[in-house]
Amino acid sequence: MEFRLEQKRSIVTELPGPKSQALAAERAKYVSNSIGSSLPSYIAEADGAILRDVDGNQFVDFGSGIGVTTVGNGHPTVIKAIQETAASGAHFQINTAPYGSYVELCKRLTELTPGNFEKKAALFNSGAEALENAVKIARKYTGRDAIVVFDHAFHGRTNLTMAMTSKSMPYKDGFGPFAPEIYRFPASYPYRDGLTGAEAAARTISAIEKQIGAKNVAAIVIEPLQGEGGFIVPAEGFLPAIVDFAHENGIVFVADEVQSGMARTGKWFCSEWDGIEPDLITSAKGIAGGMPLSAVIGRAEIMDAPHAGGIGGTYSGNPIANAAALATIEVYETENLAEKALEIEAKVRAAFEPLVGEVATVGEVRGRGAMLAIEFVKAGGKEPNPEIVKEIVSDALSQGVLLLTCGTYGNVIRLLPPLVMSDELLDDAIGVFIESIRKFS
Ligand SMILES: *Cc1c(COP(=O)(O)O)cnc(C)c1O
Repeated sequence: MEFRLEQKRSIVTELPGPKSQALAAERAKYVSNSIGSSLPSYIAEADGAILRDVDGNQFVDFGSGIGVTTVGNGHPTVIKAIQETAASGAHFQINTAPYGSYVELCKRLTELTPGNFEKKAALFNSGAEALENAVKIARKYTGRDAIVVFDHAFHGRTNLTMAMTSKSMPYKDGFGPFAPEIYRFPASYPYRDGLTGAEAAARTISAIEKQIGAKNVAAIVIEPLQGEGGFIVPAEGFLPAIVDFAHENGIVFVADEVQSGMARTGKWFCSEWDGIEPDLITSAKGIAGGMPLSAVIGRAEIMDAPHAGGIGGTYSGNPIANAAALATIEVYETENLAEKALEIEAKVRAAFEPLVGEVATVGEVRGRGAMLAIEFVKAGGKEPNPEIVKEIVSDALSQGVLLLTCGTYGNVIRLLPPLVMSDELLDDAIGVFIESIRKFS
């Protein structure tokens, strides 16, 4: 692959550099303090797996804008589609004047999602908006109110999705009251609960039956690989048991694949790893190569339940985002990026798994494909260790490697590399990360 920017980390100023510091000073005056940033440097351009700041420093991007630029930053095929569509001159709006790319993208998404049944889709702007609409659709279809969500869940920052999200700080603190009829239960967290998939599912199902009653539940909403909560992979058998319970009781099973979908885990959707066929899937993040777009895809009879005009939005499925998404899907296919995700997984596991047992602070290495994480603990036990995570992230950053954290306890470092990251760059960045781990362990 050809890149505009050399695929190499390079720190040429103090961090943040003088131009970034000037922008930070302006920001302090004009940007609400409620907006946080992981990186103190300001980005001028990006290409492939490299972010270049306004001072000329280059960072290896292990975040992909939180799993958005999975096809690489500024992929030429995606840029071309955006440019051509922008030049076509129109802002079309689906509720007033429809256009073909909306139809074409919905068709492609119904083909890519698991489930051998008739499917339809609807398009939106953000992940949270997709979740909001999945809940609306499921409630209309079932005529029921209750929504089941889980410990460690993240579903967004709007009022309904805040209620569905598990973590108070920073997502909910002081922002209530929250939407009603949201019920939270434990899911499956093998490293911490030690339960098999069947045991964890039995615990969840019993709690749902006792506390809500299955016949009152409209939807069960779950991330098949929990993202923000710590890249938690449920024990084998947990998800299929929950899907069976949902179907025995007329409950809509919604897989929130906003982070885990679109080739990130080595399959189009993470649900495929567990052999489940969700009734509805929410997708966003990696779907459009950096443009704001999200979707709800699922069983045609459920998707058709709301009345015409009941679902929509001014910018939902706008033509530029649609063109970017169609181009992004083409890139996933032509560059075999799902396979690339599995190669990245093999490399990362080979590098980090030997540290478990050898380095006392490395608790667990887990994830699927290029959605991988390391959970850090205090030496000699499983107590979460958010302190070391802060030190490692800051040390790696000073050497040009951008790492993101996650986890309910703030003790997990997640790797979400663009799938076009070269082997050399991956090896180099892994080396920096491991050195930082050893330095503070
Ligand atoms: C990021 C995320 C969301 C929210 O998406 P936004 O675009 O930030 O609204 C919802 N669910 C999951 C699993 C996510 O990772």
